[in-house]
Amino acid sequence: MEKRFVYADHSATTPISKPVLNAMLPYLTEGYGNPSSIYSKGREAKKALESAREQVAEALHAKPSEIYFTSCGTESDNWAIKGAAAAGARKGKRHLITTNFEHHAVLHTMQMLEKEGFEVTYLPVDSQGLITAAQVREAIRPDTALVSIMYANNEIGTILPIPEIGAVCREARVPFHTDAVQAVGQVAIDVGVQQIDMLSLSGHKLNAPKGVGVLYLRSGLAIDTFMHGGAQERGRRAGTENLASIMGLAAAITIASFQIEERAARRTAMRDRLIDGILAQIPRCRLNGSREHRLPGSLNISFEGIEGESLLLLLDMKGICASSGSACTSGSLDPSHVLLAIGLPHEIAHGSLRLSLGDENTMEDVEYILEILPPIIERLRSMSPVWEKLMAEQRAQSVG
Ligand SMILES: *Cc1c(COP(=O)(O)O)cnc(C)c1O
Repeated sequence: MEKRFVYADHSATTPISKPVLNAMLPYLTEGYGNPSSIYSKGREAKKALESAREQVAEALHAKPSEIYFTSCGTESDNWAIKGAAAAGARKGKRHLITTNFEHHAVLHTMQMLEKEGFEVTYLPVDSQGLITAAQVREAIRPDTALVSIMYANNEIGTILPIPEIGAVCREARVPFHTDAVQAVGQVAIDVGVQQIDMLSLSGHKLNAPKGVGVLYLRSGLAIDTFMHGGAQERGRRAGTENLASIMGLAAAITIASFQIEERAARRTAMRDRLIDGILAQIPRCRLNGSREHRLPGSLNISFEGIEGESLLLLLDMKGICASSGSACTSGSLDPSHVLLAIGLPHEIAHGSLRLSLGDENTMEDVEYILEILPPIIERLRSMSPVWEKLMAEQRAQSVG
């Protein structure tokens, strides 16, 4: 096969789609009015903003008054968690519950709150990258201010039992926040049916631009304000609205929710072909996380005896963009906390590959990856002292 360019890192970010760009362009040019201004250019901007809010609300089955635009998924997570923690603390509630494999936007916020005197329970995920609603029920205490559990994991792609957790929290009257940044656009979400009180999402994970997000905040739930300033977002999130990006986000979420089943089916077919093809062709590798409870577009596989960073570089030379569980985003060489949380030993966690598919990917892309990957793994293993040792052990075993 000829060299191709294959972008298979949609969990990191996605390209802006054509219809999304078209929805944005008028607001980058003549539609520059400030939605807070009273002349017609301002009022037009305000009208557009409110129509975007309606679109997002519709996609989540929420009310427009429950949708707040933010600057990103990270801000939405920070607001939900710090806001609920502060509101809880005033009632003497200083206990928070989350999992040990959240995105750092949640984990580092929790750690910061621990320093401020909150107590945090980090529920351990099992080897499949899942937790149960029963674990949440057992962890809830009279002083629990918030449960924050991600909808789907960004590294291994597992989907958690959100409706069941929502029911447990509702029954215990504890606010429930979910970081749904990976799920929105891939999984049908109904915040009412699923009993979600707060939900974070981000534009750039669903073919909208970077730097725009949403916090859904159920009406009646009181949390503290995070961004102080002007009266935007009904006085609860200050800052002049990023209207062009908001219009892009609204278009993206509407497109995604109209076609959710078709898109999911397409991605699932490509994902399953990749999983089956890799497991069949490459010895001593394993799929990380539950096969069944999995985002349509995501997979994460560990290969014994290789190093993730070198794998990514060799894939890049063949035009393939992917990511590694051992990605040292922070510059540290520690393997991913997610892979350690599901019980992978350090040396195996280091040799992990995440492939995440999106709308532009095709079966040809998948076949290309399946052609390119096995020889790269073989080459890396042929140079790896760790692999050499594994093979020696294997030979000793078969002789003995
Ligand atoms: C990407 C991501 C975030 C952060 O969103 P930004 O808009 O990049 O700040 C938070 N949580 C999860 C699960 C993510 O995948």
